[in-house]
Amino acid sequence: MRANPGKAVAIIGGGPAGLMAAEVASSAGARVDVYDAMPSVGRKFLMAGKGGLNLTHSEPSQAFLSRYGARRACLAPLLAGFGPEVLRAWARGLGVETFVGSSGRVFPWGMKAAPLLRAWLHRLRAAGVNFHMRHRWYAWDEDGALRFATPQGERTVRADAVVLALGGGSWARLGSTGAWVPLLAARGVRVAPLRPANCGFDVGWSAHFRARYAGHPVKPVVVAHTRPDGVESRLRGEFMVTATGVEGGLIYALSADLRDEIEVKGAALLQLDLAPGRDLARLAQELGRGRGSSSMANHLRRRAGIDGVKVGLLRELLPAEDFADPARLAAAIKALPMRFIAPRPLDEAISSAGGVAFEDLDEHLMIRILPGVFCAGEMLDWEAPTGGYLLTACFASGRAAGAGAAARLKAGL
Ligand SMILES: Cc1cc2nc3c(=O)[nH]c(=O)nc-3n(C[C@H](O)[C@H](O)[C@H](O)COP(=O)(O)OP(=O)(O)OC[C@H]3O[C@@H](n4cnc5c(N)ncnc54)[C@H](O)[C@@H]3O)c2cc1C
Repeated sequence: MRANPGKAVAIIGGGPAGLMAAEVASSAGARVDVYDAMPSVGRKFLMAGKGGLNLTHSEPSQAFLSRYGARRACLAPLLAGFGPEVLRAWARGLGVETFVGSSGRVFPWGMKAAPLLRAWLHRLRAAGVNFHMRHRWYAWDEDGALRFATPQGERTVRADAVVLALGGGSWARLGSTGAWVPLLAARGVRVAPLRPANCGFDVGWSAHFRARYAGHPVKPVVVAHTRPDGVESRLRGEFMVTATGVEGGLIYALSADLRDEIEVKGAALLQLDLAPGRDLARLAQELGRGRGSSSMANHLRRRAGIDGVKVGLLRELLPAEDFADPARLAAAIKALPMRFIAPRPLDEAISSAGGVAFEDLDEHLMIRILPGVFCAGEMLDWEAPTGGYLLTACFASGRAAGAGAAARLKAGL
């Protein structure tokens, strides 16, 4: 049965979650209007495609679900409706084939978001979805109508159901400013504060280290972190030195734990193994050999395979007396403590933690105390590492919210 013709769903936010909600509601027969504050939709999605659009992940479903940590149970029913395989088939339906990379991550051929977005918008427009750009939603009026600021002045819109897909709070210049948080909080909706996720951290480098090594990749390296509850993570890969600290895939993978630890303790400790694959005893023996007239840099390179930024890190983070002692230097190469003092600001993060509490939503992602208002995407209170988990959950929740909105119309509510 199609949704009540003539009844309208307003989708606010034209990111992956909002567009997916629009697709589902429209295919259920609802009239759909998408409103977005920016001059065009999908800006963060396009930005995600700049570094290679990681759409989803190919790992088994239990491992996939575990990436959502404490929110796993909230996301499981959504992902059951639109998981990695369905997402890949959906992209294929838009003429975009995907492939599994060596890490198990799934990318579109060509790696970019633009072809997918172009085909998708074309299909949505053909299905009758209307787009209203430069419409910034900023309030409800006293009758429950939506108030938008537009270049032509204020516009008030009445809708039978509303899907909010306003994004998190990172990269505000792409549209997701997090300005919706006080609007929902004022209506009594519980919203966990937005916090940086998949973010870099400040270490507090000396001026010398910063000038010399900012922008240098540290690789290969193993990073180890032990959570306060004793759970240990060891990951191998690379990270980047920045002007204030570090960033990159390895760091993002641990960023939720590091951020939480800093919030509780004021700092978090990571241990670096700068010579993965080399044995500590052998390393100590090699470094213990006299270096004769050779410089310390040459000695470290020849005996331990350590050079460049890795030497810089040892000099920066180790007391001078440890650096001069072969046994202590070898121990530090295998377990160099690096202390993080703060996560980088939310605006710089890849994604946001926090958002609308699932406890305030029904199974269709409708806000219980605001009947007819649904939420989807990154504005919900979940987080996940990079690896395609973010977009998959945005699409899946957009689908659930769009279906919920259409079902409400169909039921004549
Ligand atoms: C650099 C970068 C790379 C990334 N790479 C990946 C990746 O490879 N894989 C992956 O899974 N994820 C990636 N992500 C994360 C992913 O892009 C986001 O999780 C996803 O875009 C969130 O989708 P969304 O629809 O919830 O919100 P958004 O995409 O943020 O869209 C929200 C929309 O709402 C609009 N809006 C906000 N407030 C208002 C308002 N008041 N009125 C009207 N409109 C409003 C905004 O203009 C925006 O268009 C990346 C993110 C960044 C920043």
